[in-house]
Amino acid sequence: MLREIKAIFSSIGYRVALGPEVEDDFFNFQALNIPQGHPARDEWDTFYLQNSDLLLRTHTSPVQIRYMRDHRPPIRIIAPGPVYRHEATDAFHEAQLSQVEGLAVDEDIRLSDLIGTIEYFSRSMFGADRRIRISGDHFPFTEPSIGAAVSCGICAGAGCRSCRGGWLEIMGAGMVHPQVLRNGGIDPDRYSGFAFGMGLDRIAMLRYDIADIRSLRESDVRFLRQFG
Ligand SMILES: [Zn+2]
Repeated sequence: MLREIKAIFSSIGYRVALGPEVEDDFFNFQALNIPQGHPARDEWDTFYLQNSDLLLRTHTSPVQIRYMRDHRPPIRIIAPGPVYRHEATDAFHEAQLSQVEGLAVDEDIRLSDLIGTIEYFSRSMFGADRRIRISGDHFPFTEPSIGAAVSCGICAGAGCRSCRGGWLEIMGAGMVHPQVLRNGGIDPDRYSGFAFGMGLDRIAMLRYDIADIRSLRESDVRFLRQFG
């Protein structure tokens, strides 16, 4: 899945950026508009390392902050890699999952650029006949924030057991909050940008109709054989 996602984004000028899985509080939270003690932290069930400022990153967003601090716009990156959440595991939740986030920063980047990029990605990944649906959402690090869903391939949008009313949520996204650009050392009066994030596991589940996310890490040969 990751190989395909990289190919899709590299065809429109994105490069891959990587960062540490053990992060500090600043890069994982504060630089992303999530201050210490803020209730928004409750949305990220975090593994903190004892007696330190360190934690297991809950998203690959800190890679975006690190990249902005080291590079000048135009920036177009995807940041793939493992992230960690203190979750009770079930068919849809795992304590370790893989994420792919993206970031584009340049002069005059608009919400319509983000929507066009999501549309290009979802058609490349799921098929040219798929439609996307954009809805409002909220994240501390983007303003405005949106959620994107792709039309269900099984029922073609009519609604079935595999989807929610014909749609499958694929990612959260939005225009990078001016303060987050500032935290990355970028002047928000001159530059704007968009960011998106998706779960690699979820994209794989949608693409291959996998019912239980835990199958992805159990190494059960009966499951793995279908990809051989
Ligand atoms: Zn459906």
